Amino acid sequence: MSQPRNPTEVVAKARECFKKGLTKSLKQRRTNLKNYLNFINENQEAIIQTNYDDLRQHREEVRLQIGLVVAHVEVTLDNLTKWVKPESKPKRWVDALDGLYVYKDPLGVVLVVGTWNVTLLTLAPVVGAIAGGNCVVIKPSHNSPSFGQLLETVLPRYLDPDCFPVFVADIDATTKLLQERFDYLYYTGATTVGRLIHQAANKHLTPVTLQLGGKNPVYIDESADLFLTSRRLMWGKTWNSGQICLSPDYVLCTKSTQDKLIKYCKVALDHFHNQDPHCCPIVNDFHFKRLQNLLSGLEIAIGGRVDPLDNHIEPTIATNVSPEHPIMKEEVFGPILPIVPIDGYKEAVDFVNKREKPLALYIYTMKKSIGDYFLENTSSGSVVVNDNLTQLITESLPFGGVGYIGMGRYKGKDGFDTFVHKKAVLVKTTCPIVEKLHELRYRPFVPYKL
Ligand code: NAD
Repeated sequence: MSQPRNPTEVVAKARECFKKGLTKSLKQRRTNLKNYLNFINENQEAIIQTNYDDLRQHREEVRLQIGLVVAHVEVTLDNLTKWVKPESKPKRWVDALDGLYVYKDPLGVVLVVGTWNVTLLTLAPVVGAIAGGNCVVIKPSHNSPSFGQLLETVLPRYLDPDCFPVFVADIDATTKLLQERFDYLYYTGATTVGRLIHQAANKHLTPVTLQLGGKNPVYIDESADLFLTSRRLMWGKTWNSGQICLSPDYVLCTKSTQDKLIKYCKVALDHFHNQDPHCCPIVNDFHFKRLQNLLSGLEIAIGGRVDPLDNHIEPTIATNVSPEHPIMKEEVFGPILPIVPIDGYKEAVDFVNKREKPLALYIYTMKKSIGDYFLENTSSGSVVVNDNLTQLITESLPFGGVGYIGMGRYKGKDGFDTFVHKKAVLVKTTCPIVEKLHELRYRPFVPYKL
C-alpha cells in the first residue's frame, strides 16, 4: 500500500475545486461521466484481475458487477439533462402568478467509503455523486488493496485527481479522513463500522447513506417451482461464496418442501460446479473460523467440507435448523444456508417480523396472494418474488435499507437525488392586484386604502 496522503490536504483541494465550480456545469458532469465510463470499460480486465488477486473472485461474477456499473452510468447519461432541470411544482390559486421550483444543487465534497466484497459498489455510488455535480473522495476498502491501487493509479488518467481523489488508506488513515468535514458520507460495509461513520457524520451534522449487512430471509411456498427456485437460490447463495449483502441468508419452508428442495438444490449445485468448480475463498481467517464455528451442531444435508489451507468452505445446506442456533443470530455472509421448518406463510411472516428488518426478502411462490401478503405485512429494503440478487441490476428500482440495515438509497434517479440538495425556490409576483390580496399579512392586519 502506498503512503497515505494527508487527508486535510486532499479534502481542501477537492473543496477548492468545488468552489471554483469545476464539477458543476452540466457539460462538465457529462464529460466526467463519460470519462468515468471509459475508465471502467477500458480497464475491465484489470478490474477483474485485481478482484481475483485480492479475493480470488470468479471472473465472470466480477464481469457482471462491472455490467451493473456500466448500465448505471449509461442510464444516468441518458437522463441527466432531464434530472438536472429545475422542477416546476403544482400551484394553488393563491400562487397562480408565482414561480414554484425545486433546484437541484450539488452538495459539495462527498466521501464514498467502499467495501471489499463487491468492489464495484465502491464505484456505483460515485456515478450519482458525479451526476449531482460534486467532488468525490473515493475510499476503497483496505481489504481489496490491488483494486484500491488500480483506482489510485489509473483513475487520475480519466478524471481530475484533485476533484476525484482516490484515498487508499488503512484503518488508521481512514479514521483520520473521517475527522474531515464532508457534505455527504456514503458508506457500504459492516454495521460496526457504520456506527463509526455515523458518529463521524454527527460531529458536523453531515447527511449519510449507510448500506449495511443483516439476514435476508427466503420463504419457499409449497406452490413454488422448485426446479427454478433451487437454481436461482443456489446461484444467489454461491455467488462470491455467499459474501454478498443480498445473499439469501436462511430459508423458511414446510418440512415437506424442505425435503424436496434439498434434492433439487443438489442437482443445481452439481450442474453449476461440476464443470466450473471455482468458488472464491472466505475473505480472511477471522470470517473462516467464524463460519466454521457456525457449522457446529447443524444437520448438514449438502456440503459441509471446509479447507483451512485456503479458507474454503463448500456450498452447504443445513436442514431442520432451530431458530435458537447461533447461525440464526448473525448475518451468515458465507456459503452456508440454514433451513428452518415452519408451518406456512403466516408463520414465516411472524418469524420475519420478530427480527430486525432485512435488506432483502425473497419469496418463492406461484400464488400472487402469498407475495402480496408478505408485501403488506413485512418491511424490508427490497422484496423479490421468485428470484434473488437481481434487484441490484434493475436500474429503475432504488437500492437501500430500512431500520437497522441502513439508510438512504441509490441507483438511477435515486442515486442522483442522494447527491443533490433540493432547494425550494419561490419567485413571487409583484403584480399590484396580488399585493392587495397580501394586505392581510401586514400589520395592523386590516385592508388599507390606496
Ligand atoms: P470492509 O472491511 O471492506 O469495510 C468497509 C469499509 O470500512 C472499508 O472501506 C474499510 O476500509 C473501512 N473500515 C473498516 N474498518 C474500519 C474502521 N475501524 N474505521 C474506519 N473505516 C473502517 O467490509 P466489511 O465491513 O467486511 O463488509 C461486509 C459487510 O458489508 C457485510 O455485513 C455486508 O452485508 C455489508 N455490505 C452491505 C452492502 C449493502 O449495500 N447494504 C453491500 C456490500 C456489503
